[in-house]
Amino acid sequence: MKAVRLIEPGQPLEMQELTVPVVGPRDVLVRVKAAGICHSDVHYRAGVSPVSPLPLTLGHEVAGVVEQIGAGVDTLHVGDRVCLHYMVTCGDCLYCRMGNEQFCSYGKMIGKYQDGGYAEFICVPARSAFPLPRDIPFEFGAIMMCSSATSFHALRKGRLQAGETVAIFGVGGLGISALQLAKAFGALDVYAVDINSTKLELAARFGALPVNAAESDPVAEIQRLTGGRGVDVAVEVIGLPQTIQQAVYALAIFGRAVVVGITDKPVAIDTYQHLMGKEAELIGSSDHLASELSALIEYARRGTLDLTGVVTRKLPLDADAINAAMDRLAEFGDEVRAVITP
Ligand SMILES: [Zn+2]
Ligand SMILES: [Zn+2]
Repeated sequence: MKAVRLIEPGQPLEMQELTVPVVGPRDVLVRVKAAGICHSDVHYRAGVSPVSPLPLTLGHEVAGVVEQIGAGVDTLHVGDRVCLHYMVTCGDCLYCRMGNEQFCSYGKMIGKYQDGGYAEFICVPARSAFPLPRDIPFEFGAIMMCSSATSFHALRKGRLQAGETVAIFGVGGLGISALQLAKAFGALDVYAVDINSTKLELAARFGALPVNAAESDPVAEIQRLTGGRGVDVAVEVIGLPQTIQQAVYALAIFGRAVVVGITDKPVAIDTYQHLMGKEAELIGSSDHLASELSALIEYARRGTLDLTGVVTRKLPLDADAINAAMDRLAEFGDEVRAVITP
């Protein structure tokens, strides 16, 4: 089978011909119908976050059709449409038993620590494959399992309550899901902060109030729009020290800022004024949980979570096309999400 793989960090991905994986008793082989290209993949290619063992097939946002099932699998059948939870976990360690399997002691993320979905087929444990209703296109099923699921978890970490106000810093793949899910959770006003007017228009179409950070200081603008109060929950999905700081500074009294964006740079925060002085909280959010996925899939099936307009490009399973899409993503362009449809 064809697979587009990271051979060496800092170098373009390359196409390799691999044998189709052998299906273990508890595994399923999935024919990939859609694999999202994520900002994390750009970090993996650049060598910012480690990937091992190399060479490795990237792609952790995957949906497809069950091609083959292991002898011990009775929950899925050949031909089932599925989307994949990207954390392959043991189900048995301390964290798995607590239901916090994103910290599984033996957890391996697909497309990072084991072969992912930039390929014709992928083999995963059956427990990682979730039925994908017919009403949800494969492309949506794929990107949902990263950006939407991570946004969902972040809003839960932020303990968003009905009637509260929210600011989403960054309107990319995560941000568009985050603002729709915030509405679904009962948020009154959702402010979308970005510097890209095309993305802000998309956010506005989904009911967010756009704040263009290229035109004004977003903290001052949010303070103005909320009558000087600030927001109850701010979610930062960009991963820049400046926007993480802004997310904290935009908080109301008792506000919660949730950091999802990845950066390896330290963030300066005036803790006296902006954390203590407001009893505000700065919360880290990592990945998401299998227990959150059925609700998320149902939100998407009902159209409460609508990913129309988020998939801005479809690509073939081709190394050059994938590398070019990653280059565009690295430049923070208009592109929200590009999806490989082999
Ligand atoms: Zn992703
Ligand atoms: Zn575990």
